[in-house]
Amino acid sequence: MRSIKIEKFVDLSKMCSIKIGGKAKNVYFPSSSDEIRMLLIESIEREKRFFPIGIGSNTVFSDGIIDLFFVSTRYLKKFSIKQEGKNYYIEAEAGVSFKTITNIVKKLNLEGFENLSGIPATVGGAVVMNAGAFGTEISDIIDEVHWYDREGNLHLLKRDQIDFSYRKSPFQKEGFVYKAVLKLKPSKKDIKSIIKKHLEERSRKQPLKYPTAGSTFKNTPDHPAGYLLEKAGLKGFRIGNVAFSEKHANFLINIGGGKFKELKKLIETAERRVGELYRIKLEKEIQIVE
Ligand SMILES: Cc1cc2nc3c(=O)[nH]c(=O)nc-3n(C[C@H](O)[C@H](O)[C@H](O)COP(=O)(O)OP(=O)(O)OC[C@H]3O[C@@H](n4cnc5c(N)ncnc54)[C@H](O)[C@@H]3O)c2cc1C
Repeated sequence: MRSIKIEKFVDLSKMCSIKIGGKAKNVYFPSSSDEIRMLLIESIEREKRFFPIGIGSNTVFSDGIIDLFFVSTRYLKKFSIKQEGKNYYIEAEAGVSFKTITNIVKKLNLEGFENLSGIPATVGGAVVMNAGAFGTEISDIIDEVHWYDREGNLHLLKRDQIDFSYRKSPFQKEGFVYKAVLKLKPSKKDIKSIIKKHLEERSRKQPLKYPTAGSTFKNTPDHPAGYLLEKAGLKGFRIGNVAFSEKHANFLINIGGGKFKELKKLIETAERRVGELYRIKLEKEIQIVE
């Protein structure tokens, strides 16, 4: 434990994309597989809830001091690329960013990842959330996942052993995704231009000028959550310095100095209004840490 980097009283608003939150009493920064195992065991001994953090683009922290066992993937950034037959395999540790993967697939013109390229994510956060866009989910291109269970045992799971569904994976329950192998193939299409088109669409449709945590609620089987929120009069609805965006009703934005209690009140208001209007219970996509 002595060699593992630790920071105390870390400003959580700097650890998440919506830039709201108090302070973490401790954040650990492992840089190897062995350090992850040691931290999992240590957190059990200390009887603390273990909470991994990627780049926090789907996570919101409450104000005040939070005393959980926070483990950041910031220094888990090793990756390698292997060609086998017709396929390319990118093996990436949890903290490798989607920007890095995007650069690889652009350079080698690989197919399979292009629809996911604009998602602000780490490999770990994306696997856990089964992140997806434009008809592709990361589970579509996963070959295997190396995952630590709560007790610190490492497991190698092949794709067909993992039960993924819409924004859901078994890794949301416990443990730590250490690394994933993505399976891609050379493309005849111009991958760079597809990526460019998706990025342009994102900047047209999403409020990227404000700090945000992406989609607040999951889409329902019948309707996108943004549609339901808009119909419930919540597009642009603001409490204090947090609002549902005018550009995309399902994106909460921090207008400047937003507080967790304002964000929470907005979420509760949305759940109540959509519940009353449509008898639908919205399910949160963002991960709230209190
Ligand atoms: C502008 C914007 C656009 C977005 N667009 C999309 C989109 O198109 N599609 C989409 O699916 N999402 C989207 N998101 C949401 C977000 O980018 C994804 O959910 C992403 O996968 C989160 O990655 P992260 O590294 O930031 O995870 P974090 O927010 O840091 O973590 C998310 C969850 O995963 C857990 N976690 C993180 N790393 C690990 C690990 N190694 N092991 C175990 N648990 C871990 C955390 O504890 C937390 O519960 C968007 C967000 C923003 C801000």
